[in-house]
Amino acid sequence: MKVVVDEHACVGHGRCYALAPHVFAPDDMGHCEILAEDIDDYALEAVRIAVASCPEDALELID
Ligand code: SF4
Repeated sequence: MKVVVDEHACVGHGRCYALAPHVFAPDDMGHCEILAEDIDDYALEAVRIAVASCPEDALELID
């Protein structure tokens, strides 16, 4: 699976990189940067929680 961020929707709440710091990180403005686009089984649960927790619906998991 892959995770993508809609950079126009992301406003930098930071929940994603707090919940899955091995996959997401803040850029200079606090917006989400994706460190590892391909999500392995180990990271999947944390990424699912991060996607569901984004208040802007800016994250999407794609098969
Ligand atoms: S939780 Fe959503 S809005 Fe906040 S930084 Fe992450 S992707 Fe952006």
